[in-house]
Amino acid sequence: MALMITDECINCDVCEPECPNEAIYLGPQIYEINPDKCTECVGHFDEPQCVQVCPVACIPVNPQRVENRETLMQKYLRLQADAAH
Ligand code: SF4
Ligand code: SF4
Repeated sequence: MALMITDECINCDVCEPECPNEAIYLGPQIYEINPDKCTECVGHFDEPQCVQVCPVACIPVNPQRVENRETLMQKYLRLQADAAH
């Protein structure tokens, strides 16, 4: 699954630079995650890096984006291919 940021976000800025896929960005009110880019850090790290650093634990899985590990790995590979161009 991709992860999402809830409205408990305090805009502390620490998660955005930790994302290896540049999936996190500052939206109109709070930080947001682009589900097309979030692999739950599969391909890069064992644990989601944003969840590790978030001080208010406001980054749950996105129930709209149920994806298994294989799908996340395919997303990772696609993102790597896109980045190479
Ligand atoms: S889980 Fe990983 S890839 Fe997804 S938003 Fe967090 S840091 Fe980025
Ligand atoms: S680390 Fe958590 S509180 Fe800080 S900006 Fe990211 S989602 Fe928001």
